[in-house]
Amino acid sequence: MEGNINLWQSVLDSLEQKISRTNLITWFRDIDIKQQKDNQVVISVPNIFVREWLHNKFERDLLEAFQKFSPEVKNIKYTISKTANSLDASKTNKKENLLLSDISQPKIEFYQNRLSGLNPKYNFKNFIVGQFNQLAHACALSVLKNPASINPLFVYGGVGLGKTHLLEAIGNEIVNSRKKKKVKYIPCPNFTSQIVTAIRNQGIERVVDMYSEYDVLIIDDIEFIAGKERTQEVFFRVFNNIKENDKQIIMSSDRPPQAIENIEARLRSRFEGGMITDINLPDYEERLAILEQKMEEKGGILPQETLEFIAKNIKRNIREIEGALIKSLIIFEQERSFEKVKKSLEDMIFEPKRRISPEKIIQTVCDFYNISSKEVLSKTRKKEIVLPRQLIMYLLREEVSLSLPSIGVKLGNKDHTTIGYGCGKIEEKIKKDVEFLKDIELIKERVQNT
Ligand code: ADP
Ligand code: MG
Repeated sequence: MEGNINLWQSVLDSLEQKISRTNLITWFRDIDIKQQKDNQVVISVPNIFVREWLHNKFERDLLEAFQKFSPEVKNIKYTISKTANSLDASKTNKKENLLLSDISQPKIEFYQNRLSGLNPKYNFKNFIVGQFNQLAHACALSVLKNPASINPLFVYGGVGLGKTHLLEAIGNEIVNSRKKKKVKYIPCPNFTSQIVTAIRNQGIERVVDMYSEYDVLIIDDIEFIAGKERTQEVFFRVFNNIKENDKQIIMSSDRPPQAIENIEARLRSRFEGGMITDINLPDYEERLAILEQKMEEKGGILPQETLEFIAKNIKRNIREIEGALIKSLIIFEQERSFEKVKKSLEDMIFEPKRRISPEKIIQTVCDFYNISSKEVLSKTRKKEIVLPRQLIMYLLREEVSLSLPSIGVKLGNKDHTTIGYGCGKIEEKIKKDVEFLKDIELIKERVQNT
């Protein structure tokens, strides 16, 4: 294949949407694609432990991620190799590995700086500017030029529109140009779980001190702080310390500060006290420009009509545009046909919102917790059954909009007050337990996509 389309990198990028960064770094770091043949992918892992963990915990996500780019992949095999990244060319048949030579890049790009938390792949050079993000970009440059002059910088916009990219690019630029500056990038869910741990270990003061020392603190997806009172309290203190010392705070969110519910008024007014800027959707010409530039970066070639087709049809965000581009490059390389490319993009273009059945929710939750639906519908009070049962109640209310009495009927004729109580329990738990919230997101995702 011409160019260097890195399938593994694309798979990682796609997994990044589902799996926490910490997990990604822990489990997916020393992995590479060893072989892709017919419907099987062989990946090399550093040891048995990682193999077991991937197999048990992440195989489904991994498979889904592969299928996004290579729909024919049906199963994953693992091979243990100390030199996980080297491809033994002498043993491989040239033709069948045409794809492989390019997808097994010697070193994966997924990498996060341990100290700063920044991923160096995000920079200004590969950040495309158009009308849709011009203001956000200008604010970013202004922060670079005069740190702490705009404080905080608050960037908001829908998913996949480049908030993380822009924030990390600012961080990387500062790290590279002013070596002495201490920069920290942290996604809000990670920040929250750090605080939960600190509360347990009586380490709050240390956390406040640690964060107050940064010259530039970047918190991504700050909307996650909603409803988390202790995290808000800690962040408020950190915020004040940093600001008082003329250091810089940068945040992103999927919505403007006034639309974040359940945050303390004093914190909201802090968010509003600097510069608020949004990132909009790129229009057709901008989408085409993004595609052209990204294609060049990836070193691939697609006919103009294909690029125009993608730009016309994939509109939701830049992440999807990028996904469609990579998929098209791979398919076009294999098939040399615009029609085949079009066909491969169908599922990205037409996405009828599927109706979710209550049974689907019950089954997905049971599968997730590895329990039987019979037990969930029974009257047992076993702890390992009660929580999933309450979660089902909650999801039936939130995702299917069933009334409490009809949820009661679905769950083996339970009283509506029991259902109300169960939903309340889940709401409480969500506020305190980030891991649980992530589980719920995962479950919802599976309900939607399987
Ligand atoms: P968000 O944080 O808003 O959900 P991301 O920053 O993760 O979005 O962006 C999603 C993908 O789109 C990333 O791969 C990112 O590099 C790419 N991207 C977003 N905006 C731009 C841009 N202006 N120029 C180039 N790539 C972009
Ligand atoms: Mg983001």
